[in-house]
Amino acid sequence: MEITRLSSLIILSLTILINLTSFVLSQLNELQTLDIYSKISTGTHATSSFSTDFGNLSISSPAAVLYPSSPDDIAMLVRFSYTSMKSFTISPRGAGHSMNGQTFAPDGIVIDMLSLGRGHDDCRVTVSTDGLIPYADVGGEQHWIDVLNATLKHGLMPRVFTDYLYPTVGGTISNAGIGGQAFRNGPQISNVYELDVITGTGEMVTCSRDREPDLFYAALGGLGQFGVITKARIALEPAKKMARWVRLIYTDVELFTRDQEKLISLEKTPAGFDFVEGQVILSEVQVPGIKSSFFSDSDIEKITRLAAGNNGPIYLLEGAAYYDYSSATSVAENVTLLLEELHYESGFAFNRDVPLVDFLDRVHYEETFLRSLGLWLVPHPWLILFVPKSKILDFDSKFFKGTLKDNKAAGLILIYPMNRKKWDDKMSAVIPTEEVFYAVSILWSAVANDIEILENENKKILTICENSKLGCKEYLPHYTNMADWQKHFGNKWSKFVSRKKKFDPKALMSPGQQIFRWVSSSVLQVK
Ligand code: FAD
Repeated sequence: MEITRLSSLIILSLTILINLTSFVLSQLNELQTLDIYSKISTGTHATSSFSTDFGNLSISSPAAVLYPSSPDDIAMLVRFSYTSMKSFTISPRGAGHSMNGQTFAPDGIVIDMLSLGRGHDDCRVTVSTDGLIPYADVGGEQHWIDVLNATLKHGLMPRVFTDYLYPTVGGTISNAGIGGQAFRNGPQISNVYELDVITGTGEMVTCSRDREPDLFYAALGGLGQFGVITKARIALEPAKKMARWVRLIYTDVELFTRDQEKLISLEKTPAGFDFVEGQVILSEVQVPGIKSSFFSDSDIEKITRLAAGNNGPIYLLEGAAYYDYSSATSVAENVTLLLEELHYESGFAFNRDVPLVDFLDRVHYEETFLRSLGLWLVPHPWLILFVPKSKILDFDSKFFKGTLKDNKAAGLILIYPMNRKKWDDKMSAVIPTEEVFYAVSILWSAVANDIEILENENKKILTICENSKLGCKEYLPHYTNMADWQKHFGNKWSKFVSRKKKFDPKALMSPGQQIFRWVSSSVLQVK
């Protein structure tokens, strides 16, 4: 075992010991008086299970874990801490797919949100089709795959999905929830009608655009800072059965981005796609990595030859049109017409027809494959940026043709545009000011002992973006000091702080985001 890993483990064990000592001594006696005491575990087995996340870049053990059976259990814990002289921090943890310890609660209690759904046969998803607009009431702990499966029974589905369906509803809507349908339907946070939130004072509040709107807008993209989302009412639309899934290869970034921007301006099928994303493939070395279940071996050979002969990255535009069996022929014809208007490399259009569920759940297939190779739970120093449309070519030349040109690290780079008008500025989520902006997701997998190198690449990108005034905003942001958080939120900062004071005045919630800390009864400080 490497020395650094070993020393991390020793530090972790010591941290657990110190945490337990200080926490248990000061709080456990008092917690014993609560009905939820039997649902709190301070055992090392419990706390160490919550001491890392998908990023696998840092370790921090909570003092204890709450396994709630109901929202009341959560409210009781939060009220206890809020009213205690020795308050402790509390972090709801969904699937733990964060990258940088955003679910950590050092010296505090992590709430295992998944425990809310255990023992509920209905999966805490209730579909309503009574009114004009169908919706689902969904537990904040639910995985999106479970929401999809439950709504499909009614011929319905959520209007926008993240690429991977195993994060929880509370986890993604605490960020935004973006994916290939967001250009048309907005991010997941634009598709929420109502929330149940347990605030940082332990109050259970139902909020919406009309009822307690301040809390509603605060919590959407609120990084868990305003309370625990225990239920979300989310918009649904009719589900189709199949997807015509298209991948087009480009060598010219201007044609690639122009086509992507055209596609996100089109109305629903038959005119356009239901899903638009894209990828950057830095060199031929990365081509085999895009194989997945889509490309055949001969496709991969052909694309590798193109990439090898190209002096620079190649680009992959990904689109999908959803359809039912009855409209298969017309959708195929429409897609053919649509492709005629696009400017990909001749002979480099590939398509497949797949069940819609398989398309939406495609990353799970990758997960299964990577797990079988032991490559899923590796460190993930991811960097996701929202880049204004006017700067995307500059971004491409600075990084994909510049600093990352010879990068051979494992990973995936996604790039696709979205429409700002589909977002709501009252929400906490932060995006660039231009009408169209790109999500650029640099999703490294550190499989070659290269964490430090990749983290340095990310830092370099952030510094260059800053110095060149590219106007980028980080998605799934990770900052550790006030100046950076303030810069990130920009003109939303003062609102964010005032909402924090209102809904979580002791700064108990989601301390792993490292935004606020509470120092005395009257002072709320930024870290
Ligand atoms: P966690 O990591 O458990 O929590 C994240 C934060 O939210 C923490 O601060 C936590 O305290 C807080 N939180 C969790 N639950 C609640 C709750 N119920 N109430 C209040 N606060 C809460 N994101 C996208 O937008 N689009 C993508 O396409 C996408 N693809 C991904 C693919 C993979 C393979 C992975 C690992 C992640 C991807 N993500 C994507 C990122 C993912 O959406 C976020 O990391 C999300 O936060 C994960 O949800 P989670 O349930 O794991 O949250």
